Amino acid sequence: MPSRLSLIVLLFAVSPLFAANGSAPTATPGPCPADAGWSEPTRPAHIFANTWYVGTCTISAILVTSPKGHILIDAATDAAAPAIEANIRALGFRLADIRYLVNSHEHYDHIGGLARLQHDTGATVVAREPAATALERGSNDETDPQSGILEGFPAVAHVRRIADGESVTLGDLRLTAHATAGHTAGSTSWTWNACEGETCHTLVYADSLTAVSRDSYRFSDHDDVVAAFRAAFETVAGLPCDILMTPHPGASGLLARIGPSATEALVDAGACKRYAESAATRLGARLARERGQATP
Ligand SMILES: [Zn+2]
Repeated sequence: MPSRLSLIVLLFAVSPLFAANGSAPTATPGPCPADAGWSEPTRPAHIFANTWYVGTCTISAILVTSPKGHILIDAATDAAAPAIEANIRALGFRLADIRYLVNSHEHYDHIGGLARLQHDTGATVVAREPAATALERGSNDETDPQSGILEGFPAVAHVRRIADGESVTLGDLRLTAHATAGHTAGSTSWTWNACEGETCHTLVYADSLTAVSRDSYRFSDHDDVVAAFRAAFETVAGLPCDILMTPHPGASGLLARIGPSATEALVDAGACKRYAESAATRLGARLARERGQATP
């Protein structure tokens, strides 16, 4: 029978809420309802090594920590930003220690909370073009396949530009940007390496690869967008990839693979390839449907 002290020690050892600084856990929301909206809060969870899930039930936000400061990937909606901040604090990390805010793509469900997080953290926002321009403008470009059906978002000041293949670094932590355009022109995937003891993995935050549009838009009329998608599929399929994360956690089964009640394996070296192949199949089906319809 363990003593009360050893039970407390065990709790500190296994609970992500205690892991960062040993502080008492704060009240956190429960598991996600089946009909959870984009801003529905959920508990933060440890993913691997220095990487934590701090997003909502249906939109990811990923905190990557280092002794030199932290990087937050994606900011969900404006309405969800306070829940993301609460999750970061619940893990014992300070908002003021976040140095960079990076993102997957310029749609309000992933960058709507950026302006608020920029204000509350003082971090530098980093994005690829043309996402960076859209962020500063506070609206999407009309060339976006979803233009006309997208909500706007608070404009973000002073966005630092990053190019395909460049990295954001903090000491030994290095997040590399990979252009994976298609879903939007600024779509970006991110990779980094992390170790727990002797075990090291490549983590991949692969952006949405789904062809979604307003009703009147035909991907088959936009060869450049289709070509961008095909290049993105190739890029994602070719990434070194041990742990796949995605901007919508459901797209990679992420929430079932993390936290104390995980039911599926976190590490899967074939996950990026299958993610890209599935997207390619769905784009092919979309193009076939479009070509089966009369041109307007
Ligand atoms: Zn999107």
